[in-house]
Amino acid sequence: MAVNTIKVRVLDIDFDNVTMDEALDIGEKLMDEPGFKYVVTPNPEICYLARKDEGVRKAVQGASLTIPDGIGVIYGAKILGTPLKGKVPGADFAEKLMARMANSGKTAYFLGAKPGVAEKAAEKLAEKCPGLTVVGCHDGYFKYDGEVIADINEKAPDLLLVCLGAPKQEKWMSEHSGVLNARLAIGLGGSLDVYAGTVERAPEVWQKLNLEWLYRVGPDPKRWGRALRLPAFIFQVIGEKLSGKAHSN
Ligand code: UDP
Repeated sequence: MAVNTIKVRVLDIDFDNVTMDEALDIGEKLMDEPGFKYVVTPNPEICYLARKDEGVRKAVQGASLTIPDGIGVIYGAKILGTPLKGKVPGADFAEKLMARMANSGKTAYFLGAKPGVAEKAAEKLAEKCPGLTVVGCHDGYFKYDGEVIADINEKAPDLLLVCLGAPKQEKWMSEHSGVLNARLAIGLGGSLDVYAGTVERAPEVWQKLNLEWLYRVGPDPKRWGRALRLPAFIFQVIGEKLSGKAHSN
């Protein structure tokens, strides 16, 4: 089910052109409707991968709500001449949604990250959002999907955070969408680590300068290769612009 918003296409991904508050209203509505739906939070790296890999593309395109996680997507949309209203960082979106849920008795399940991280994140979020009920947690290093899905389905959460890293989490949500007994899932990368405090967010000044992604690349050589996908994304966007394929609807 896709929501009724203006879409802005960046490479092969149709972003919902929404502010944070609009995204939260849509998130709440999606949770109120029966059936499983999911939200994706693509950054330039995912836009780039979706162009190269049909599995990633289909998984992302199957989402009910697509929000621009990082500033790179905002610049991409601007270059294409179809600007988005602004970035809607996935971790902030989910946290604000959980704050709203705390007032309405809805439940959440946290899936992903190393053992113990999801539980720690649940503890920290319960402090921040008094009233929030986290009905279950599972780490992201499991062998058998069936066992994890059975646990989620037994708890039947309104919200399921899927933090397995991208694009694994998008494929996981898409692949299991027919069997998951949750109302709304969100693919959120390393957000459980952030909520738990095992990985810190970039200092505010980096966030304000829109350089959070660069801070996260930092000294980790594993991330350097991934960071190179950002210029690759920009080249693709410029190529798209020059070929005149950009559009919104
Ligand atoms: N992760 C996981 N299972 C896996 C691979 C990764 O649970 O099989 C977790 C990992 O522990 C981390 C998150 O997924 O918490 C990925 O974080 P990263 O910052 O690399 O993801 P991004 O936000 O860049 O997609």
